[in-house]
Amino acid sequence: MPATAPGVALTIDFCGGPNGTGADLALLALLRQQQVPATLFLNWRWITANPSLAKDLAADPLFEFANHGTTHRPLSVTGRSAYGITGTANPGEVYDEIMTNDARLTELTGHRPRYFRPGTAYLDEVAADIVRSLGLVPVGFSVNGDGGATFPAPTVTREVSRAHTGDIVILHGNRPGGGTAAGLVRALAAMKDRGETFRPLPKETS
Ligand SMILES: [Zn+2]
Repeated sequence: MPATAPGVALTIDFCGGPNGTGADLALLALLRQQQVPATLFLNWRWITANPSLAKDLAADPLFEFANHGTTHRPLSVTGRSAYGITGTANPGEVYDEIMTNDARLTELTGHRPRYFRPGTAYLDEVAADIVRSLGLVPVGFSVNGDGGATFPAPTVTREVSRAHTGDIVILHGNRPGGGTAAGLVRALAAMKDRGETFRPLPKETS
């Protein structure tokens, strides 16, 4: 698909770790039922906790797998923290944070992922250069759809519905029981009503 294809890109993070290794099956079923493509940013800890689901999702052409890090740390060469989580401390730790999970994703899909989003979505400039030198595109977001799966459904609907063509929406698929899936149902309906379309992430982004 050309980079200029119109549409909103949905990206779903699966963070793993304590309180974060669940699977929002309602969210995944919704995307499949409505055939809305999404890029799934999988953390190594989430894959380790959900090996058969990860395999199932890898086989579905609706979804593209992307790298959400190995231990879910902010990507830094100085140990800078974000949201109270200590970042990687040097280039070696940056490399490990990217490449341990890169190998796991490659094993699951048969090809290397194209995108990287660190835990907390924070990365400093040197770390971003390392991401690129490893052949990956660092990906942020322009619309915070579910506040880390903390928003109630009406807030998810309101926030996701703000997205227009060219936007990258971030949601979470690892915390079922929140408002993400229920809120997205109504957002998709409203967006489709006004003619919005959905696309995978473009090949080049930032
Ligand atoms: Zn995350």
